[in-house]
Amino acid sequence: MKKILQDLSFTELENLISSFGEKPFRAKQLYTGLMQGKKISQINIPAPLREKLFAEYEDEAIRIIQTLTSSDGTEKYLFALADGNVIEGVLMKYKYGNTQCVSTQVGCRMGCKFCASTLGGLVRNLTSGEILSQVLAVNALHGGNLSKRAVTNIVLMGSGEPLDNYDNVIAFLKNVSAPCGINISARNISLSTCGLVPKIYALADEQIPVNLTISLHQTTDEGRARTMPIAKKYTISEILKACEYYFEKTGRRYIFEYSLISGENCDEEHAEGLIKLLKGKPCHVNLIRLNEVKERDLKTITEKEAYRFLGLLEKGGLSATLRRQIGVDIGGACGQLRASYLKNE
Ligand code: SAH
Repeated sequence: MKKILQDLSFTELENLISSFGEKPFRAKQLYTGLMQGKKISQINIPAPLREKLFAEYEDEAIRIIQTLTSSDGTEKYLFALADGNVIEGVLMKYKYGNTQCVSTQVGCRMGCKFCASTLGGLVRNLTSGEILSQVLAVNALHGGNLSKRAVTNIVLMGSGEPLDNYDNVIAFLKNVSAPCGINISARNISLSTCGLVPKIYALADEQIPVNLTISLHQTTDEGRARTMPIAKKYTISEILKACEYYFEKTGRRYIFEYSLISGENCDEEHAEGLIKLLKGKPCHVNLIRLNEVKERDLKTITEKEAYRFLGLLEKGGLSATLRRQIGVDIGGACGQLRASYLKNE
């Protein structure tokens, strides 16, 4: 595979264009076209420059090859990368704007037992430009441009573990929030991690005001290790310490994701455990009913049971919400679409 032009910041693109002996305005023209979701061949530049670029760079970083639309308006996409790998993403429509869920890796090596993304292990990291191009493609699909964006918020909750692809994810965060580009503020971006503790500290030190989200899903290390292998490496108490450091450094409240799995993590004792762990901390708990994955035998709970669990947390003084389940009819959960695509191939 050749390189991807969207990996470059505007300054890096300017340097590349000037190394070709071209005038600076060509860099601006190319950059604007790319940020509008165009391929190189759709941007009106002189043929010799185009040929020089094609010698090293892919014409198109990413292509939407399938779109599924849920009855609730949620859209799910299958993207093809230049090397033929596929990844998936989701666009969720809310009153305040559209939130896109993007992937950071092809597959994942974290091995969480409830997740479809990890079924085939990690294939490779996405480059920063491949992560950015998911946003550019969906923004363009919905008629967005650089002054009026169709994608307003981003969650790094697609396939992959963002902190396992640290450098590329940091470059993505910088490029997607660059004022001269699509300019989505880091404040409108949530990074979700299963808890790679040293990388949480590193992220705090970057001083990028991204929302930190931790996939907790359990109240004890033993319980957590049953479904999340990473729990054998980092304890909940180490994660909480890293979160505190994140808060000190950024002033930003952190969020815990808690997927409700029947018989695993949503009895009264678990509510008590969560309250004990989190009470008084500058955090919020996002409950979500497990999206059942057919390759996995874990089951979800009823909506009524989920609200009961939420009530227990609230009574215990935690800030918590139960996320509305959307896109269930189109395989909304992490990795489901790609898994079924690969099976049919
Ligand atoms: N690797 C990162 C981000 C990707 S997963 C992380 O672990 O946070 C995004 C969120 O969806 C995580 O909280 C993950 O645990 C959760 N998740 C994955 N599969 C799920 C499923 N089938 N049902 C409910 N939540 C799921």
